[in-house]
Amino acid sequence: MNGNQTAEETRKKAIRLFFAIWPDKETRMRLGRLAGRLASACEGRKIKTENIHLTLVFVGEVNTSQMTALYKTVDEIKDSGLRAFDLPIERICIWKRKNIVYAEISAIPQSLIDLVEALQSRLSSAGFSLEQRPYKPHITLMRNASCKTLPELAEPMVWRAREWVLVKSDRTSDGSVYTQIGRWSLEG
Ligand code: ATP
Ligand code: MG
Repeated sequence: MNGNQTAEETRKKAIRLFFAIWPDKETRMRLGRLAGRLASACEGRKIKTENIHLTLVFVGEVNTSQMTALYKTVDEIKDSGLRAFDLPIERICIWKRKNIVYAEISAIPQSLIDLVEALQSRLSSAGFSLEQRPYKPHITLMRNASCKTLPELAEPMVWRAREWVLVKSDRTSDGSVYTQIGRWSLEG
Protein backbone atom coordinates (compact mmCIF):
# COMPACT_ATOMS: atom_id res chain seq x y z
CA MET A 1 0.00 0.00 0.00
CA ASN A 2 1.30 3.49 -0.71
CA GLY A 3 0.26 6.77 0.84
CA ASN A 4 -1.37 8.09 -2.33
CA GLN A 5 -4.47 5.95 -2.48
CA THR A 6 -7.51 7.63 -3.85
CA ALA A 7 -10.80 7.31 -2.00
CA GLU A 8 -11.96 5.04 -4.79
CA GLU A 9 -8.99 2.69 -4.33
CA THR A 10 -9.61 2.55 -0.59
CA ARG A 11 -13.27 1.79 -1.16
CA LYS A 12 -12.42 -1.02 -3.54
CA LYS A 13 -10.25 -2.66 -0.89
CA ALA A 14 -13.10 -2.62 1.61
CA ILE A 15 -14.87 -5.89 2.31
CA ARG A 16 -18.48 -6.31 3.33
CA LEU A 17 -18.84 -8.33 6.52
CA PHE A 18 -21.47 -9.69 8.85
CA PHE A 19 -21.64 -12.04 11.83
CA ALA A 20 -24.09 -14.91 11.52
CA ILE A 21 -25.18 -18.36 12.56
CA TRP A 22 -24.86 -20.84 9.71
CA PRO A 23 -27.09 -23.91 9.58
CA ASP A 24 -25.67 -27.41 9.85
CA LYS A 25 -26.13 -29.55 6.75
CA GLU A 26 -29.45 -31.11 7.76
CA THR A 27 -30.99 -27.78 8.79
CA ARG A 28 -29.68 -26.17 5.62
CA MET A 29 -31.29 -28.85 3.47
CA ARG A 30 -34.61 -28.57 5.33
CA LEU A 31 -34.68 -24.78 5.05
CA GLY A 32 -33.61 -25.05 1.41
CA ARG A 33 -36.52 -27.39 0.65
CA LEU A 34 -38.85 -24.98 2.40
CA ALA A 35 -37.54 -22.11 0.26
CA GLY A 36 -38.09 -24.33 -2.78
CA ARG A 37 -41.73 -24.86 -1.80
CA LEU A 38 -42.18 -21.09 -1.54
CA ALA A 39 -41.38 -20.75 -5.22
CA SER A 40 -44.78 -22.22 -6.14
CA ALA A 41 -46.72 -19.95 -3.74
CA CYS A 42 -44.77 -16.72 -4.20
CA GLU A 43 -43.22 -14.53 -6.80
CA GLY A 44 -39.84 -13.19 -5.78
CA ARG A 45 -36.21 -14.13 -5.36
CA LYS A 46 -35.57 -17.38 -3.51
CA ILE A 47 -32.47 -17.45 -1.31
CA LYS A 48 -30.04 -20.12 -2.50
CA THR A 49 -29.78 -23.03 -0.08
CA GLU A 50 -26.07 -22.40 0.56
CA ASN A 51 -26.82 -18.75 1.44
CA ILE A 52 -29.49 -19.37 4.09
CA HIS A 53 -28.36 -18.00 7.47
CA LEU A 54 -29.34 -16.05 10.56
CA THR A 55 -27.66 -12.64 10.72
CA LEU A 56 -26.37 -11.65 14.15
CA VAL A 57 -24.82 -8.27 13.36
CA PHE A 58 -24.26 -6.61 10.01
CA VAL A 59 -20.88 -4.87 10.13
CA GLY A 60 -20.86 -3.46 6.59
CA GLU A 61 -17.90 -2.22 4.59
CA VAL A 62 -14.64 -2.62 6.48
CA ASN A 63 -11.21 -1.65 5.21
CA THR A 64 -8.00 -3.58 5.81
CA SER A 65 -6.88 -1.30 8.62
CA GLN A 66 -10.11 -1.97 10.58
CA MET A 67 -9.64 -5.75 10.48
CA THR A 68 -7.22 -5.75 13.44
CA ALA A 69 -9.82 -3.96 15.57
CA LEU A 70 -12.47 -6.40 14.40
CA TYR A 71 -10.46 -9.48 15.37
CA LYS A 72 -9.51 -7.86 18.70
CA THR A 73 -13.22 -7.45 19.37
CA VAL A 74 -13.81 -11.11 18.55
CA ASP A 75 -10.98 -12.08 20.92
CA GLU A 76 -12.73 -10.22 23.75
CA ILE A 77 -15.95 -12.13 23.12
CA LYS A 78 -14.99 -15.61 22.03
CA ASP A 79 -14.00 -16.98 25.46
CA SER A 80 -16.56 -15.08 27.50
CA GLY A 81 -18.78 -18.06 28.23
CA LEU A 82 -21.38 -17.51 25.53
CA ARG A 83 -23.70 -20.50 25.42
CA ALA A 84 -24.94 -22.66 22.56
CA PHE A 85 -28.69 -22.46 21.88
CA ASP A 86 -31.52 -24.03 19.93
CA LEU A 87 -33.64 -22.13 17.45
CA PRO A 88 -37.15 -23.58 17.24
CA ILE A 89 -38.84 -22.96 13.89
CA GLU A 90 -42.58 -23.55 13.52
CA ARG A 91 -43.83 -21.02 11.02
CA ILE A 92 -43.17 -19.25 7.74
CA CYS A 93 -44.08 -15.57 7.76
CA ILE A 94 -44.08 -12.61 5.43
CA TRP A 95 -42.68 -9.23 6.43
CA LYS A 96 -44.76 -6.90 4.29
CA ARG A 97 -42.70 -3.77 4.90
CA LYS A 98 -39.56 -5.48 3.63
CA ASN A 99 -41.24 -7.89 1.22
CA ILE A 100 -39.33 -10.83 2.62
CA VAL A 101 -40.53 -14.27 3.50
CA TYR A 102 -38.74 -15.75 6.49
CA ALA A 103 -38.72 -18.69 8.85
CA GLU A 104 -39.76 -17.37 12.23
CA ILE A 105 -37.87 -18.28 15.38
CA SER A 106 -40.77 -19.18 17.62
CA ALA A 107 -38.96 -18.61 20.91
CA ILE A 108 -35.91 -16.37 20.96
CA PRO A 109 -33.25 -17.87 23.25
CA GLN A 110 -31.62 -15.57 25.79
CA SER A 111 -28.21 -16.93 24.69
CA LEU A 112 -28.84 -15.59 21.18
CA ILE A 113 -29.62 -12.16 22.62
CA ASP A 114 -26.49 -12.37 24.81
CA LEU A 115 -24.33 -13.13 21.75
CA VAL A 116 -25.85 -10.31 19.68
CA GLU A 117 -25.56 -7.82 22.54
CA ALA A 118 -21.94 -8.80 23.21
CA LEU A 119 -21.10 -8.25 19.54
CA GLN A 120 -23.04 -4.98 19.30
CA SER A 121 -21.56 -3.43 22.42
CA ARG A 122 -17.95 -4.51 21.76
CA LEU A 123 -18.08 -3.51 18.10
CA SER A 124 -19.58 -0.11 18.97
CA SER A 125 -16.89 0.46 21.60
CA ALA A 126 -14.28 -0.42 18.98
CA GLY A 127 -15.68 2.33 16.74
CA PHE A 128 -17.82 0.35 14.29
CA SER A 129 -21.08 2.10 13.48
CA LEU A 130 -23.89 -0.42 13.50
CA GLU A 131 -27.51 -0.55 12.52
CA GLN A 132 -29.55 1.28 15.19
CA ARG A 133 -32.81 -0.59 14.66
CA PRO A 134 -33.70 -3.19 17.31
CA TYR A 135 -32.50 -6.70 16.48
CA LYS A 136 -35.25 -8.85 15.00
CA PRO A 137 -33.91 -12.35 14.35
CA HIS A 138 -35.26 -13.96 11.19
CA ILE A 139 -34.16 -16.47 8.57
CA THR A 140 -34.80 -14.97 5.15
CA LEU A 141 -35.98 -17.49 2.54
CA MET A 142 -37.24 -15.17 -0.19
CA ARG A 143 -36.82 -11.51 -1.11
CA ASN A 144 -39.05 -9.14 -3.11
CA ALA A 145 -41.78 -11.59 -2.30
CA SER A 146 -45.45 -11.50 -3.11
CA CYS A 147 -47.30 -14.63 -2.01
CA LYS A 148 -50.73 -16.08 -2.53
CA THR A 149 -50.40 -18.42 0.43
CA LEU A 150 -47.58 -19.45 2.70
CA PRO A 151 -46.64 -23.10 3.13
CA GLU A 152 -46.95 -24.66 6.55
CA LEU A 153 -44.18 -26.70 8.08
CA ALA A 154 -45.03 -30.39 8.08
CA GLU A 155 -43.55 -30.50 11.56
CA PRO A 156 -41.67 -28.02 13.77
CA MET A 157 -37.91 -28.09 13.46
CA VAL A 158 -35.02 -27.17 15.73
CA TRP A 159 -31.82 -25.59 14.46
CA ARG A 160 -29.04 -26.26 16.95
CA ALA A 161 -26.61 -23.32 16.98
CA ARG A 162 -23.20 -24.40 18.23
CA GLU A 163 -20.95 -21.80 16.62
CA TRP A 164 -20.98 -18.31 15.14
CA VAL A 165 -19.19 -17.16 12.04
CA LEU A 166 -17.81 -14.05 10.38
CA VAL A 167 -18.84 -13.89 6.74
CA LYS A 168 -17.59 -11.89 3.76
CA SER A 169 -20.28 -10.89 1.28
CA ASP A 170 -19.29 -10.29 -2.35
CA ARG A 171 -21.68 -8.79 -4.88
CA THR A 172 -21.40 -10.73 -8.14
CA SER A 173 -23.45 -10.89 -11.32
CA ASP A 174 -24.85 -14.11 -9.88
CA GLY A 175 -25.99 -12.41 -6.64
CA SER A 176 -24.29 -12.27 -3.25
CA VAL A 177 -21.59 -14.85 -2.61
CA TYR A 178 -20.80 -15.52 1.03
CA THR A 179 -17.44 -16.81 2.33
CA GLN A 180 -16.85 -17.71 5.96
CA ILE A 181 -13.62 -16.12 7.17
CA GLY A 182 -13.87 -16.95 10.87
CA ARG A 183 -15.68 -19.44 13.07
CA TRP A 184 -15.98 -19.65 16.88
CA SER A 185 -17.63 -22.20 19.17
CA LEU A 186 -20.38 -21.60 21.68
CA GLU A 187 -20.21 -23.44 24.99
CA GLY A 188 -22.35 -26.36 25.96
P1 ATP B 1 -28.28 -8.73 -1.61
O1 ATP B 1 -27.96 -7.43 -0.92
O2 ATP B 1 -27.45 -9.02 -2.80
O3 ATP B 1 -29.75 -8.92 -1.82
P2 ATP B 1 -27.84 -9.88 0.93
O4 ATP B 1 -28.70 -8.79 1.48
O5 ATP B 1 -28.11 -11.27 1.40
O6 ATP B 1 -27.88 -9.91 -0.62
P3 ATP B 1 -25.74 -8.39 2.09
O7 ATP B 1 -26.42 -7.11 1.71
O8 ATP B 1 -24.26 -8.45 2.00
O9 ATP B 1 -26.31 -9.59 1.24
O10 ATP B 1 -26.19 -8.71 3.57
C1 ATP B 1 -25.65 -9.77 4.34
C2 ATP B 1 -26.58 -10.04 5.51
O11 ATP B 1 -26.66 -8.87 6.33
C3 ATP B 1 -28.02 -10.35 5.09
O12 ATP B 1 -28.58 -11.23 6.06
C4 ATP B 1 -28.71 -9.01 5.19
O13 ATP B 1 -30.09 -9.14 5.47
C5 ATP B 1 -27.99 -8.36 6.37
N1 ATP B 1 -27.93 -6.91 6.20
C6 ATP B 1 -27.54 -6.22 5.10
N2 ATP B 1 -27.60 -4.90 5.29
C7 ATP B 1 -28.03 -4.72 6.56
C8 ATP B 1 -28.29 -3.58 7.37
N3 ATP B 1 -28.12 -2.34 6.94
N4 ATP B 1 -28.73 -3.81 8.63
C9 ATP B 1 -28.90 -5.04 9.10
N5 ATP B 1 -28.67 -6.16 8.40
C10 ATP B 1 -28.25 -6.01 7.14
MG1 MG C 1 -28.51 -6.68 1.13
